[in-house]
Amino acid sequence: MAATEVQHFINGEFVPSSDNKTFDLFSPYTGELVGKVSEGTEEDVDKAVAAAQAAQQSWSSLSPAQRGIPMAKLAQLIIEHDKDLAKCEALAIGRPISIYFDGYYAATHFKYFAESGYAVGTSSLNTPGFMNISLRQPYGVCAAIIPWNAPLVFFSKKVAPAIAAGNTMIVKTSEKAPLSSHLLAKLIAEAGFPPGVINVVHGHGQVSGNAISKHMKIRALSFTGSARTGRVIQKAAADSNLKHLIFELGGKSPAIIFEDADIEKAAKDTQHSIMFHSGQTCMANSRIYVHKNIADKFVTTFNAHAAARKLGDPLSPDTTSGPQADKTQYETVLRYIEEGKKTGKFVDPGATVPSSSPGDGSQSLDLFVGPVVFLQQPEDSKVMKEEIFGPVACINTFETEEEALRVANDTEFGLYAALYTKDIDRALRVAKGLESGMVGVNCTSPTGAWDMPFGGYKSSGAGRESFLHSLDDWLEQKAVFIKVDGLLGSSGPTNSTLGR
Ligand code: NAD
Repeated sequence: MAATEVQHFINGEFVPSSDNKTFDLFSPYTGELVGKVSEGTEEDVDKAVAAAQAAQQSWSSLSPAQRGIPMAKLAQLIIEHDKDLAKCEALAIGRPISIYFDGYYAATHFKYFAESGYAVGTSSLNTPGFMNISLRQPYGVCAAIIPWNAPLVFFSKKVAPAIAAGNTMIVKTSEKAPLSSHLLAKLIAEAGFPPGVINVVHGHGQVSGNAISKHMKIRALSFTGSARTGRVIQKAAADSNLKHLIFELGGKSPAIIFEDADIEKAAKDTQHSIMFHSGQTCMANSRIYVHKNIADKFVTTFNAHAAARKLGDPLSPDTTSGPQADKTQYETVLRYIEEGKKTGKFVDPGATVPSSSPGDGSQSLDLFVGPVVFLQQPEDSKVMKEEIFGPVACINTFETEEEALRVANDTEFGLYAALYTKDIDRALRVAKGLESGMVGVNCTSPTGAWDMPFGGYKSSGAGRESFLHSLDDWLEQKAVFIKVDGLLGSSGPTNSTLGR
């Protein structure tokens, strides 16, 4: 199979990097070369910003319904190309096609925001002699930097509301997973967007990502990725133009299983949460706290589900777990497993792990990691504190509700927390007490709802994304004070400076 040539999409055209440099992308399953990817430079980012700036005024002067026309068309094209998009992720990061939902997610988001880009401000008669209004207006040129684990989810949840609000966008894809965004760029070209409304730049973070973070003309930036990179981006934004930032960062999500829980369901759900996508999801419940009286049964059931996972070819519909996304991910996960063996009890649930990759030999890879369970890890151990991003579950026991809540909250992260109980009072008490942006009651991640605020407490992020919240992220607010002669109170002794 020929490798895909991936070029930047700037001003409606596919272009190479300013210095013509590319990098190679290999399948983590077969080791084959699957992409020759343009490595974005500062100059490429400047070109994308110039294109976005040139397009912005006329794009924002269209009505929301007019902006919605190419967005709705794009949604339709995404559905038509769903299988091709799924294949892109299977080739680039080994994501099984059986767990691919990103196309449906992306199409739904473009369709939703195609019809709901109606930004409205407020009005006020509370200042005597004044009729005041507030306006919601686009920032202008904005950007998104996305990770590799579900590229189209992040592409669509950021770009759709941003352009619906009248902004124009530059998207920086992940160096690990540019294929689906490249195909999406082709669909964007076909959907009839004016040139420059959506621009896509590929490459590594240190160059093109950094150029975006510090760019003086980019006014808002939405980032999904690790907390480590989030800190670097925040510094770059602070040192440049203090651009508006939206952050969706990492997690170390707890799930608490109380004594009265449905053990079978809790074990099945929590196993799926951490082992889904080979542990490479931000909200995975990587720390599980189970009441000591039900721990044996819970662990046995959890392990049975983990053992039944089918690791293999991501393009096969039967496969439920692929390899880790690349060699770096694989080696990081192995390092954490070795670390965990020193501090707690290692359990191999016994899933069959393919031993070698059947590729063409252009790279020799063997990047599968079977499900791993750790028991009795100390709360301050590395595997309990740091995000591993692999199929590694830590299961500890507790005795009281207070203890469970204390250890669950003893983390710098706060993205998603889950609890299982049949006691409604306890469920609501604990849900309120959990320091987390999202809480699942008798369910766990990736369960969510697209109209509810998605985001994290503490180091897991800043801001919230959803159907109902995301438009706000991409709109400035302006207060306009209008003095109206003859309005009741306008001639009185009003101190309007103080708003009285
Ligand atoms: P990452 O932080 O390594 O990279 C994310 C993006 O940032 C990539 O496009 C990368 O090229 C870019 N980048 C890297 N260094 C940069 C720099 N110096 N300046 C600007 N950009 C830079 O994360 P990843 O490995 O791609 O993704 C995994 C991480 O993302 C995990 O921590 C995971 O929890 C998190 N994540 C969070 C969510 C969420 O919604 N909260 C969703 C998915 C993934």
